Amino acid sequence: MIRINEHYLKLQASYLFADIAKRVAAFQKDHPGKEVIKLGIGDVTRPLPAACIQAFHQAVDEMAEAATFRGYGPEQGYDFLREKIAREDFQARGADVSADEIFISDGAKCDNGNLQEIFATDITVAIPDPVYPVYLDTNVMAGRTGDFTDGRYQGVVYMDCTRQTGFVPTIPKAKADLVYLCFPNNPTGGTITKAQLKQWVEYARTNKAILLFDAAYETFIRDDRLPHSIFEVDGARDVAIEFRSFSKTAGFTGTRCAYTVVPKSCMAYTAAGEPRPVHPLWNRRHTTKFNGVSYPVQRAAEAVYSPEGRTQCRQLIDDYLRNAALIRKEMTALGYECIGGDNSPYIWVDGKMDSWKFFDFLLEKANVVCTPGVGFGRCGAGFVRISAFNDYENVQKAMERIRKAITAA
Ligand SMILES: *Cc1c(COP(=O)(O)O)cnc(C)c1O
Repeated sequence: MIRINEHYLKLQASYLFADIAKRVAAFQKDHPGKEVIKLGIGDVTRPLPAACIQAFHQAVDEMAEAATFRGYGPEQGYDFLREKIAREDFQARGADVSADEIFISDGAKCDNGNLQEIFATDITVAIPDPVYPVYLDTNVMAGRTGDFTDGRYQGVVYMDCTRQTGFVPTIPKAKADLVYLCFPNNPTGGTITKAQLKQWVEYARTNKAILLFDAAYETFIRDDRLPHSIFEVDGARDVAIEFRSFSKTAGFTGTRCAYTVVPKSCMAYTAAGEPRPVHPLWNRRHTTKFNGVSYPVQRAAEAVYSPEGRTQCRQLIDDYLRNAALIRKEMTALGYECIGGDNSPYIWVDGKMDSWKFFDFLLEKANVVCTPGVGFGRCGAGFVRISAFNDYENVQKAMERIRKAITAA
């Protein structure tokens, strides 16, 4: 008898974006003339930078000629891309990362979700609340949690990100073996200082834990004092793995390219307490279950590091940050507490009422779509996430409408 993985039955159906779509569709049906502006889901809206498109086209042409055609590439990615990443994203910032510690993949979501499988099932995971749901759900699927009761999975160490903690996770009192961190944060837009990151590295070293550091929004950092990589902290190489993606950095959400950094000195332990390097385990997992990102996509990603690509990506992110600054400024002026939006495309707004109530208010009175914070976890109750991924004109229009709606209320 074929049986199912019953851990899947513990998963909570995620109605968040389906619920949003349903409410928006119902509103549009009742108000056919009204134009709705979407500042909801975390997807980019601007096209790929010209330098990436050019490299992409050129690589496709290479695939058309026998002399330059490429079949399977190295599963870990082509050296041309791994070397550029190591040099430009890490060594240039004083972080000691080499090309063979970089694994190119088709997404940071998959990497975040897959990485847990090289660790034991009976370890303890620590996960922020509110959170990008992938960290939690993939551990539920793997059987690393108990049942869902009172809005939470048993056995998970939740790190509450509230006003009291500055909307970032603080070191848990409970001992955790695998800690998920995301900076700049989705959904709160919060950032971390190097001093705070140092404390996490110390925690991991003391507890023989590993930190999974998701830096998908790294290029949104504009404050020079903030660390871009966990590997800027001394000692992190022994206890941390970092995820990066070209999705938000260069508009690759539909093109698919990301990478994971697994330092060779990063250790996990056998039941007997023997240290074992994690790099060969991930290498084995990656090469067994993945056959590499397509050659043209890797060439398109490489173009991000060309002088033109750099300028164009910078412009892309600057445009989104300009939207974010406007949202933050307007919401603050209207008397709402805002987190994020200066080194992040997300603004986390205290709606001063139930998340869904504030969502409905913005939809009905301003015809603007945001994301209810409670959909990201219990600690998101009362907040909404407003995303800067749209055109400046639309964001201007949205903020004018929100101002009118709030001053009229
Ligand atoms: C968008 C996002 C990613 C990137 O996912 P891809 O699979 O590379 O598109 C990773 N982590 C977080 C927190 C994100 O919001």
